[in-house]
Amino acid sequence: MKASARVVVIGGGVVGASVLYHLAKAGWSDVLLLEKSELTSGSTWHAAGGMHTFNGEANISRLQKYTIDLYREIEALSGQSCGLHPNGGLMLAANQGELDSLRLICSRARYLGMQTEMISLEQALEYNPLIDPSHFVGALWRADGGHCDPSGTTNAYVKAARTLGAAVERFTRVLALTPRRDGSWEVRTDKGTVHAEHVVNCAGLWAREVGHMVGLELPVLAMEHHYLLTEDIPELKGRSHELVNTTDYSGEIYLRQERGGALIGTYEPHGIVWSPLRTPDDFAMQLLPEDFERLAPYFEVGFRHFPALGRVGIRKAVNGPFTFAPDGNPLVGPVRGVPNYWVACAVMAGFSQGGGIGLVLSRWMTQGDPGQDIISMDVARFGAFATPKYTSIKVPENYARRFRLAYPNEELPAARPVRRSPIYDRLRDAGAVMGANFGLEHALWFAPPGVAPTETPTYRRSEAFPFVRAECRAVRAGVGLYETTNYGKYEVSGRGARAWLDRVFACRIPQPGRLRLAPMLNPAGRIVGDLSMACLAQDRFMIVGSGFAEEFHLRWLHAAAPPPDVCVRSSASTLCGVSIAGPRARELVQQLTRLDLSAGAFKLFQVAETAVGFAPAILTRAGFTGELGYEIWTTPDYFASLYEDLWQAGGAYGLTHFGGRALSSLRLEKGYGSFNKDFRPDYTPGETGLDRFIDFDKPDFTGRTAALAERAAGARRRFVIMEVADTDVEVVGYESILKDGAAVGYVTSGAYGHCIERSLAAGYVLAALAQDGARFEIDILGELRQATVRLEPLYDPQGLRLRS
Ligand SMILES: Cc1cc2nc3c(=O)[nH]c(=O)nc-3n(C[C@H](O)[C@H](O)[C@H](O)COP(=O)(O)OP(=O)(O)OC[C@H]3O[C@@H](n4cnc5c(N)ncnc54)[C@H](O)[C@@H]3O)c2cc1C
Repeated sequence: MKASARVVVIGGGVVGASVLYHLAKAGWSDVLLLEKSELTSGSTWHAAGGMHTFNGEANISRLQKYTIDLYREIEALSGQSCGLHPNGGLMLAANQGELDSLRLICSRARYLGMQTEMISLEQALEYNPLIDPSHFVGALWRADGGHCDPSGTTNAYVKAARTLGAAVERFTRVLALTPRRDGSWEVRTDKGTVHAEHVVNCAGLWAREVGHMVGLELPVLAMEHHYLLTEDIPELKGRSHELVNTTDYSGEIYLRQERGGALIGTYEPHGIVWSPLRTPDDFAMQLLPEDFERLAPYFEVGFRHFPALGRVGIRKAVNGPFTFAPDGNPLVGPVRGVPNYWVACAVMAGFSQGGGIGLVLSRWMTQGDPGQDIISMDVARFGAFATPKYTSIKVPENYARRFRLAYPNEELPAARPVRRSPIYDRLRDAGAVMGANFGLEHALWFAPPGVAPTETPTYRRSEAFPFVRAECRAVRAGVGLYETTNYGKYEVSGRGARAWLDRVFACRIPQPGRLRLAPMLNPAGRIVGDLSMACLAQDRFMIVGSGFAEEFHLRWLHAAAPPPDVCVRSSASTLCGVSIAGPRARELVQQLTRLDLSAGAFKLFQVAETAVGFAPAILTRAGFTGELGYEIWTTPDYFASLYEDLWQAGGAYGLTHFGGRALSSLRLEKGYGSFNKDFRPDYTPGETGLDRFIDFDKPDFTGRTAALAERAAGARRRFVIMEVADTDVEVVGYESILKDGAAVGYVTSGAYGHCIERSLAAGYVLAALAQDGARFEIDILGELRQATVRLEPLYDPQGLRLRS
């Protein structure tokens, strides 16, 4: 075995094999894969090999397409067949909700350049004659996907990697990882020790244990999963084409041809966690005992929906374990606090996602950046809230929902409420319907007295619509209270804080008492943060951003190597906040503070540390609604008192609660983008419009060269708000934007603008097309709706109310 390698990849399943190949392809050929047993001996060998491009996140869909297209490349390079059956896919809908979901997939596929269309059930029968159409109302066909041979595919990656110089040691178990002072690793194995600059955890079923080797508790857990192989089916005899891989959502069944019979699998509602505490060391190339009794009712649904399956015998049953993260997407990337330790695990669809994961991880390692937004599979989308208990509840929930369609207004109930702010019960008493963001409960909308605080999952307008409208109008007409505790909050302090922030952020660093909008760029000049920075003192700053991105931003700030005289701390659990917004906000807040809040005395973007009612607080004049507004931050112990004071004083001004849904509507009326939806590392300052907050005169900040180059050349695309005509359904994200029939972009977010009475969609179009009044079409649930660009905010374009 080699004594050293630039990278040691731990695990020879399909994911480790892909990472090995991509690192070697990127030029890091001094890379060594260590496998404790035979290649594929974890979950890979018994997989059904199904592959598809479907994912709720457009960028992951793209990476899945990349994975599938890659197989021909590694076959050619390695001479090893991947056993491809590229026969496409069918998705069957049994009700209106599922049909809407398939239509949305079709709309998204247009811009992603994937061949996908809604077809009739008669056409579906041509692709799969086993379907009993009486159970379904519609179908989607897609050209991409099919299935491959799991072992052939893994070996093709490995052989291709070897041709590029990579090395593989089988039957070599990694026992321990010890960091050296220079950040490199001693990788101790049962065959000796290897010194490596980087290690990658691709240990699949053992990813948790390889996490423990460096003190990490990764949110990953294995579930048992069954599929059956039938005897030959007479209906398939003599057909010129194989069955198209078929997904039956209502039956929670997948199906494909396997020789003359079928392979049928199910994701049952009460799945079994496998090895909840520790994965056995000696488990390799093994299956688990079948449990037909438990699974019979679920397979019987399949036999009803595809009756020919029930008429033949079962040749073989497979029960094998594979891993999931709490939301079902992979965990990829570097981990804060553990330098040169990378993860690529919790991959539940290795044959659809393995290639894309290898691609982005290899870019990340060799170039310092994944090259695109991948936050929905970034390990940093989980934080401390994802404890083993949380994971043990969320993973089975996700497994049970694997084939249930996710509605845009749906909040999943398991492991909730976990993180609660001190006013959680009060908001619930006020009718709040809650969502969870980074584990923290936050109000989405408020059901008035007599209205049930629940919402039917739908792609269309829900029963919440009139109540969200009432909240929006109350804010614009009077004053509203929104809890901001779920924002990401950081404290940066110390003598070197100002100078360090000046390099990390692209904006001018505010002086004491001022707040600024603060974009953060990566070296490629793309947006990695859209935050606000309040200067509390020369050497003390409060930075606020997206709650979902808390760990992502902390990792970014730590990677920027704060010097010893700078302290960076998360204020996630030490600061709670509210936003008070609306024309009467000043009168209300003035009741509770001695600070002079008059327009001339406490201007937009001013900050003060002061008392608000009982609470020692940080008061900023800022907000996200476009109205006169204040954000008030205090510690958890004072937060309930602050809320009570505001609520008591607010009675006289008609203070109303508003939630996240109303905030989305209000911000889009003003044309404000939101991080993780509209602003992502896919976009640049010029494209997002955040360039206006950049201080281009600063001599040095991350991303400066790229941002200057873009400024000189002009932005290629532009973020725009569009008014959508004649619609009774709002966009939810990723719908294709069309010009003269061609997809030219996709929607990043949308809402009904309740105060301007228009349906709104945000997205990016080519800069040349981004003219006021320019007409596009958006494919919303299968219907093309006219969308008109509005370059000026549709509400208060001069910003007079904000500045009042
Ligand atoms: C029944 C079933 C059906 C499936 N069907 C499909 C499907 O149709 N399509 C699809 O895409 N996916 C499917 N999957 C999921 C698929 O199997 C996984 O996504 C994939 O195998 C994950 O690969 P991996 O490389 O991450 O993990 P693994 O395959 O578990 O590989 C991890 C490897 O790491 C090695 N290792 C662990 N610890 C150490 C150590 N300390 N030192 C050295 N080596 C170590 C292990 O021996 C193992 O070989 C299915 C899974 C099951 C169980």
